[in-house]
Amino acid sequence: MTDPVQSLPRLADVLAVLDGLYDPRWAQSWDSVGLVTGDLDQPVRRVLLAVDPVDAVIAEAVDWRADLLLVHHPLLLRGVHSIATNHPKGRAVTALVQAGLALHVAHTNADVASPGVSDALARTLGLHDLRPLQPVAGDALDKIVVFVPTADAERVLDAMADAGAGRVGAYERAAWSTEGIGTFRPLDGARPAVGEIGAVEQVHEVRVEMVVSPRRRTAAIEALRAAHPYEEPAFDVIPTATPPGPRGVGRVGELPESETLQAFAARVSRALPVTPAGVRVAGDLGADVRTVAVCGGAGDDLFDDVRRAGADVYVTADLRHHPASESLAHGGPALVDCAHWATEWPWLGVAEQQLLDGLAARGATVETRVSHLVTDPWSFRV
Ligand SMILES: [Zn+2]
Repeated sequence: MTDPVQSLPRLADVLAVLDGLYDPRWAQSWDSVGLVTGDLDQPVRRVLLAVDPVDAVIAEAVDWRADLLLVHHPLLLRGVHSIATNHPKGRAVTALVQAGLALHVAHTNADVASPGVSDALARTLGLHDLRPLQPVAGDALDKIVVFVPTADAERVLDAMADAGAGRVGAYERAAWSTEGIGTFRPLDGARPAVGEIGAVEQVHEVRVEMVVSPRRRTAAIEALRAAHPYEEPAFDVIPTATPPGPRGVGRVGELPESETLQAFAARVSRALPVTPAGVRVAGDLGADVRTVAVCGGAGDDLFDDVRRAGADVYVTADLRHHPASESLAHGGPALVDCAHWATEWPWLGVAEQQLLDGLAARGATVETRVSHLVTDPWSFRV
């Protein structure tokens, strides 16, 4: 029988999966994401997922004996000079450390991920054909173009592929090649692999093109030089433009069929968890809606993108008086304003499944739970 502790992932293993899903480099510059408390070597048996790292959620995690609390909102966003318990942040950090509970934040990096926070909101509402409301550039790639004698082309291509070139989506060793004639005259002091000093040489060569992540650029060039028969191989490294990818802020999608704004508002109310703040609607309740823009969390800086997307209705949270009023006055879409927490909560179930899948691929598993505590700050309506 194996020791059950041996089959548990370490915190570092869980974070590797989470960083693969929600790369910290995707976070906004003002944001603070990643590990807040925890020891990278500690085993992780139980993971609780929640939107807010507030006292009640930390208490829930401690009661359940969770090892990791994965949250959306940062606990520590601004400078902290004390974690004494007479301050709410200090109280939270102390409780986490005393319980041996790791805290990890995936915030704006989870917002733009694909799938991310707004995908989960859109799917909960039954939308399809999702695209980013405000796309972000995809990952930049370099293109390496190298000229190789025909007989050596496959070897150089393999060496570059082993160093990380030619990886595109779910494909590896992707390359394109065409044949041509290379020419040169070796000068005194050269040690040519082909040809003689002072004589013009012509060689049948292959032009091989492969893309490579800038992070693997140096390794790919070193592999190219090592595998190439020439003393001075000819090659180009070309940075390519980065077209928008599937990641971005907010999402736009389509309802299966048109429905009235009133019916759509009821759909939103049914789909999201109930909060005292409820769902507020602005617009003609009898108007048909089909194209829907959504943004989990506060989204009142995206009105221009919503208009450009041709959305009939915009679902988000924390809409302020003036942006909402001005958008409506300019013929903008109908508005559905929900509790901030409620618009982000659907992401927890998606993150939970992705984490389990990612760990399973590494032969590990954890017990997971999504917190149902309503941590929206509003308690009741009068
Ligand atoms: Zn939020």
